[in-house]
Amino acid sequence: MTLDSSRKKADLHIHTCYSDGLLSPTEVTEHAKKRGLQTIAITDHDSILGVEEARTSGGRELEVIPGVELSTIYQDVDVHILGYYVDFRNGKLISYLVDLQRFREQRARQMIEKLAGYGIRIEYDRVRDIAQQGALGRPHIATAMQEKGYVATIDEAFYRFIGYHGPCYVPKKEIEPREAIATIKEFGGLAVLAHPGVYGCDELTAQILKDGIDGVEVWHPEHSKTCVERLLRLAKEGGLLITGGSDCHGGRKGRSVLIGQVFIDECYVNALRQRAGAV
Ligand code: AMP
Ligand code: FE
Ligand code: FE
Ligand code: ZN
Repeated sequence: MTLDSSRKKADLHIHTCYSDGLLSPTEVTEHAKKRGLQTIAITDHDSILGVEEARTSGGRELEVIPGVELSTIYQDVDVHILGYYVDFRNGKLISYLVDLQRFREQRARQMIEKLAGYGIRIEYDRVRDIAQQGALGRPHIATAMQEKGYVATIDEAFYRFIGYHGPCYVPKKEIEPREAIATIKEFGGLAVLAHPGVYGCDELTAQILKDGIDGVEVWHPEHSKTCVERLLRLAKEGGLLITGGSDCHGGRKGRSVLIGQVFIDECYVNALRQRAGAV
């Protein structure tokens, strides 16, 4: 969508330092306000711990929808499911996510061990430090590799070693989309298929939609115009919610801060609010 200052705008896909984003929740809300957004969603990987701070710093000026982005595996593809309006203060949900984060830590240790087999010696403690309080992910490992000069760029760490098909890749906890969707619903949320255009397989999208998903992320930086048109048609035909956002990681991946560069219209947020019973 193109920027039009007269419309209410929402960016419903933003990461913070509680996963692999570089900005704190407060910094995210400051950027969002500056860019004229009325609504954002915080959608960290396997964490909802950034939501409270963002709601406080967002104040009355900026609506912050609680969200999460869960990683799943579907027929060997890393599929992400967004959960909006989950009960972010629920202790059971927080424990569920803490378990996923513990798994991520074990997985990071395994990847570090595999890297050692390639002569790359990085310390787990350094990787944990880089991630601060965040859910530990491959970007944190890549940063440690870059720091020690094993790779020139983060991208190089991914394509040579820890990318999905790389020799040192270790999967996260193997949750199926069906389980992620059920968990999001158990905690009062709406499940939305994240960036379907990234998976490069329409059949996969069609299958996951049968697993009870509530919506589809139509607008995303990695979606082409034709992909957006196809997804819009698919969502409308299926009576699904429509979302979109920048997937901002706060300047990671050699990009600028993307907050608000991909956004959706208020009408789609209204439909989401209504379905969630948040109005
Ligand atoms: P993980 O959740 O640990 O599997 O890490 C996946 C995250 O790595 C994604 O959410 C992206 O933020 C990031 N990522 C994936 N590919 C790349 C890449 N080529 N360069 C930098 N970051 C990437
Ligand atoms: Fe990420
Ligand atoms: Fe994602
Ligand atoms: Zn994301």
